[in-house]
Amino acid sequence: MRFWFVLGFCVGPVLGVQALELTILHINDVYHISRGNDPGGLTRVATYAKKLRLENPNVWLTFGGDGLFPSIESLAFKGKQMVDGFNAAHVDYAVLGNHEFDDPDVNVIKKRLKESKFPWLAANIKTKEGKPFPNTHDFIVIEKEGFKIGIFGACLLFDNQIQNLNYEDPVEAASRAIDELKKQNPDLIVGLTHLNFYQDQEIAKRHPEVDLILGGHEHDNRFSHVGGTLIIKSDSEARLNYLVKIKVKREQDGKATKEIMVKAIPLTTDTPEDPDLLEIAQKYKDQLEKELGPDERIGRLRTDLVVEENGILAHHFRETNVCDLIADAYRDVAQTDVALEMAGAIKYEENIPQGRMTHYKMLSLLPQNDKLVTLRLKGATLKLVLNRWLANEGNGGFPCVSGLSVTYDQSRPYGDKVLGLKIGGGNLDQEKIYALATNSWAAESIHKLDDSVQIIPLAKEMLIREALENYIIRQNIIDPRVDGRIKKVVSK
Ligand SMILES: [Zn+2]
Repeated sequence: MRFWFVLGFCVGPVLGVQALELTILHINDVYHISRGNDPGGLTRVATYAKKLRLENPNVWLTFGGDGLFPSIESLAFKGKQMVDGFNAAHVDYAVLGNHEFDDPDVNVIKKRLKESKFPWLAANIKTKEGKPFPNTHDFIVIEKEGFKIGIFGACLLFDNQIQNLNYEDPVEAASRAIDELKKQNPDLIVGLTHLNFYQDQEIAKRHPEVDLILGGHEHDNRFSHVGGTLIIKSDSEARLNYLVKIKVKREQDGKATKEIMVKAIPLTTDTPEDPDLLEIAQKYKDQLEKELGPDERIGRLRTDLVVEENGILAHHFRETNVCDLIADAYRDVAQTDVALEMAGAIKYEENIPQGRMTHYKMLSLLPQNDKLVTLRLKGATLKLVLNRWLANEGNGGFPCVSGLSVTYDQSRPYGDKVLGLKIGGGNLDQEKIYALATNSWAAESIHKLDDSVQIIPLAKEMLIREALENYIIRQNIIDPRVDGRIKKVVSK
């Protein structure tokens, strides 16, 4: 049983007053049209949104960014499949997420935005000349039944930035957009953002006049408020979504009073898949083989690869066997002492059952175009990296490791989480230079922490997914078991 959370205050009925009831279904980080027998997916969102639209003509389906990339489908169709899905599900407003810019060719994202039948927001991504990115808006002010609603967007800054664009600080740009839209005297201000949670909180702190922030990026749902500003994010892949009902009423003095109610909506397999969306999903599924070649067997799994557990992404919280498998593959292929990957690199959010491991399942796990690289770094720097990454328990920054075992205590201060660290069975030598395998963007972030770290490309350039595939093919029988390489100590 899930209850409505109510923010704001109710006003007594006043005859003849102007009133608006707006229903918002918010989704974010959705990469697949259909998830078949797994919960969520756009097909189920469409079914639920259709039902809402029968109840109330004022329904918004909002998308909080990250969806066009990365997925096995985006390798073939470059996000076109998701735009078709979003259009068919009648998304009303969307914000750009960092992954919308995964393809280095700027014309790809330009094309996707042009194909979208709904507006995209992002106040902080501009052309070189400082103009809004084509087909995006800093903010929009909508009039509905005599009320004005302002909606602004902002996207976090990211490493894989396309050249020749201006990426402004998202909080500053959002702040500017809010000040601008306020000139039109809106009755309600809504943020549609793809930011780190602390950045949403910062916007709310600076602008208590913002009623609601609909966010994205974290993949695990968030529900919080800063003063009177409510901040929500739904689960990735629309596994659980927030439904917001807003009642706005015009009082006799001309002011608007607002009541905001929120409810969590899990989209389990009990929600049927919308037939129109299913047809689109099937069309792309049929084309996939033509684009990517046959889905060949690459090995055999002796055990299930655990990704999702009781509605949460297990690797955001602890060591899992799929995390171990990926890190072991990197270390083996690059022939290094240790390997690291961030849990968020795992893009497939369903468990992979034991049995036939195929090329497509591997592509689904790591569809991004990051390369495998080797780093040479001091033991002290390796410890520093682990101290930082382990603080990310609960999000995609949590580490996957190989060649080392680490014990940590989350109650210790930031930067000092590690209690014990062994490399290949021996104690860490702070001064020794170790070889570490990781993906290219993580390598850059480690280099930023310590610029003495050397990044060395592999002799033969290789994507992380190619490393994983090579490893699985060579092993043939894969049986990854959690072996306690990441141990959490809970201090009393
Ligand atoms: Zn993101």
